[in-house]
Amino acid sequence: MKGYIKINKENCKECHLCIYACKKEQIIPSKEFNSKGYRPVCFDDKKGECTGCALCAIMCPEIAIEVYRE
Ligand code: SF4
Ligand code: SF4
Repeated sequence: MKGYIKINKENCKECHLCIYACKKEQIIPSKEFNSKGYRPVCFDDKKGECTGCALCAIMCPEIAIEVYRE
């Protein structure tokens, strides 16, 4: 199954739990800051391996990740 995610950058608090949760390494840190002073993570779909498993969204304490499946 192919999937993708959308990250609400204003809600992200840079805890990186989603990075640890994603076995496919589809989420990476970023250097940009949001308006609250955190650097939100990014979806990195270069490998195109997101399965839409939703582990990242389940782990996120800020409910900042939405998961879509194709
Ligand atoms: S839905 Fe699954 S595969 Fe896709 S980014 Fe989240 S944890 Fe990784
Ligand atoms: S788990 Fe949520 S709050 Fe933590 S880095 Fe990922 S998107 Fe941001």
